[in-house]
Amino acid sequence: MTVATVCPILHNIDSLVAFLKKGGRLESDHSDIGLTERTKRRRIETNLGVSEEARFADEEKSRSSGMRFGYLHKCLGLNDDEIDRLRNENTQNLLLNYKKLHLVLDLDHTLLNSTFLDNMSPDEEYLKTQTQYDHSLQHVHIVDTPSMRLMTKFRPYIRTFLMEASQMFELSIYTMGNRDYALEMAKLLDPGNQIFGGRVISRSDSTETDRKGLDVLLARDSAVLILDDTKDVWTNINQDNVIVMPRYHFFKSSCQQYSISNSKPYSELKTDECDRYGGAYLANVLQLLRHIHTIFFNEVEIEGWDLIDRDVRLVLKILQKEVLKGCKIVFSHVFHSNVKADTQPLWKMAEQLGATCSTQVDPSVTHVVAADARTQKSCWAVKAGKFLVNPQWIHTANFMWQKQPEENFPCHYQH
Ligand SMILES: [Mg+2]
Repeated sequence: MTVATVCPILHNIDSLVAFLKKGGRLESDHSDIGLTERTKRRRIETNLGVSEEARFADEEKSRSSGMRFGYLHKCLGLNDDEIDRLRNENTQNLLLNYKKLHLVLDLDHTLLNSTFLDNMSPDEEYLKTQTQYDHSLQHVHIVDTPSMRLMTKFRPYIRTFLMEASQMFELSIYTMGNRDYALEMAKLLDPGNQIFGGRVISRSDSTETDRKGLDVLLARDSAVLILDDTKDVWTNINQDNVIVMPRYHFFKSSCQQYSISNSKPYSELKTDECDRYGGAYLANVLQLLRHIHTIFFNEVEIEGWDLIDRDVRLVLKILQKEVLKGCKIVFSHVFHSNVKADTQPLWKMAEQLGATCSTQVDPSVTHVVAADARTQKSCWAVKAGKFLVNPQWIHTANFMWQKQPEENFPCHYQH
């Protein structure tokens, strides 16, 4: 099959289903493709006199290979060869004909924040009277169905983000929420079903309990980016595809869930994330996605490779290494003393961002990262004319994919 004939298939689930039905890949609603093939084979084998044991072993093997893609169509199961073929063809078609990559979007704390209606605080009650036509910052959606009663707030800039990202990427949703919730949210985010086209993956689609994996996607891993507030929820082999998002908390219950108690939630303050990252965070990440897209399709370093052989994870690594390139960092009283410094997440994060880290001060050090301005190393930094910053300087650089102005992250005296 040529790329051209497959071209529209995965952009439209109905076409995919029609295509598979035509090719005999989809049976009635309660059938299973693997089972259908096994049944056919059993008939042939019985005629050939194949032993019961051999057939049983073969059936077990056949059951263990292949996968169901219930989120695309409830009867869709594919064997390994078909999965490989569709992955290659779908990605190749996207790259060559549409100049698009794949983008997988988490829902909660990445694109939106939800709370149960019953969990709302008295200071959040006013939100229940916000209407669909209210263009205030606190515009929310109420979902009140027999199976769920909740309120959802989109992260600022979401509409523009989805519209523009869909020009460069084929978008999918992947949430650890249940299917009903995922579909309700998809309906709110994409009322015309123009953007996600049925690519809405939920907890029950995962092949590993409580973990997300790109194995449920009909796409090559090398062409997939993921936006998620939690990297660890992804299987280890897919963590290099993840762009980690700072968590979006709008409601009080969400802050409580993550033990954030130092300030009131946006909902009660009647404000939003808009000013926190020099604008809406989704606007920042959209800019990053544009940059990655441009590098993937145009940059000299990877030119010469066929598009299908390029790896977007490499682009992520290259960009990440640029963030703190040239910085030499010494940490002071940031880690627990009984844990080896170079195994600490913050140390590793700084290295991933291109910095070199050290336990000793010397003239080549550029930054001291400290929790307290009174430590020996902090005092040395001030005396030696080095930057003295708090640990948030690294975390924010990590979220923003950009070195941050040091003066915005002063290190204070601790009592
Ligand atoms: Mg999440």
